[in-house]
Amino acid sequence: VLDHIFVGLDIGGTKTAVLVVDQDSKILSRHTAPTQITDPKIFVTGIAAAIDTALQLAGVTRDQIQAIGAGIPGHIVQEKGEVHMAVNLNLTTFPIGPKLSEIFKVPIALENDVRAAAFGAYEWMQTQRDASTMAYISIGTGISAGVVLNGRLYHGHTGMAVEIGHVQFEQDGPLCACGMHGCLEALASGPAIARQYQELFPGPAIQAVTAKEVYQAAAEGQPQAVDTIQLVSQILARAVNMMVNMYDVEVVVFGGGVSSAGAPFLNPIIEAVARIRQQSDLARMLIAEDAVLALPPGHSAATWGAIKLAQQI
Ligand SMILES: [Zn+2]
Repeated sequence: VLDHIFVGLDIGGTKTAVLVVDQDSKILSRHTAPTQITDPKIFVTGIAAAIDTALQLAGVTRDQIQAIGAGIPGHIVQEKGEVHMAVNLNLTTFPIGPKLSEIFKVPIALENDVRAAAFGAYEWMQTQRDASTMAYISIGTGISAGVVLNGRLYHGHTGMAVEIGHVQFEQDGPLCACGMHGCLEALASGPAIARQYQELFPGPAIQAVTAKEVYQAAAEGQPQAVDTIQLVSQILARAVNMMVNMYDVEVVVFGGGVSSAGAPFLNPIIEAVARIRQQSDLARMLIAEDAVLALPPGHSAATWGAIKLAQQI
């Protein structure tokens, strides 16, 4: 009988992904269910039901679980097992840890979803590189990051370490939702990429595009798309340089929805990083030629990170 089962959760605003593994991290089941955000009570019972379904699919029972890990979009207070300011989940302050612990009678590891994804990305990275320090940059509708130092996820004082999305990269850049101009998020997030592309066409806005489509068009040589992606990739290369300078990490891994464009996303960043290396002896010393990677499309970094955190309890 398996009695060292670990459950990893990636709780998002629309859906919750559940991963069940055994003690050797072998996948026993995966399950995704809609996240119920109408009411905190329904939220918890919905997550518990999603876990139960995943356990059933894995052919195991609740009493075989050793620990549960969860990545949640919000500010995590680990001592209390609380999530704060989880706007996407319609929760202001909620003791998700104690609630799940009460139902499943096991310890719960909580982490902000991007920090959890950073830890999952770290595990994947180790299949590619022999490195123990890494930065993770997630490019999606927003931009966020996490850092793993000497194999440990860097949580920070309040759990919000490495929030680079609102670091200003261009003083007179586009207005950001936070009120500042030229934040990284206002220049290189998915919506920012689509908007900058559309602005290159005169007259009324062209048909709505996604960042992924802009990357695809750039890979096919479409001039406005090439220009947009060149600019965005230069900004992201500066973000890589910044991470390396601040944390002396060996590897920078990109993830998030936009990075799933694959090679058309990654290659222009690698080229832009190479140009930074050409300019600077310091950058050449700090950034290895092969330092920049992207998660394979579809890789569920947050659930894997949650599993890893559960295994560390
Ligand atoms: Zn901002």
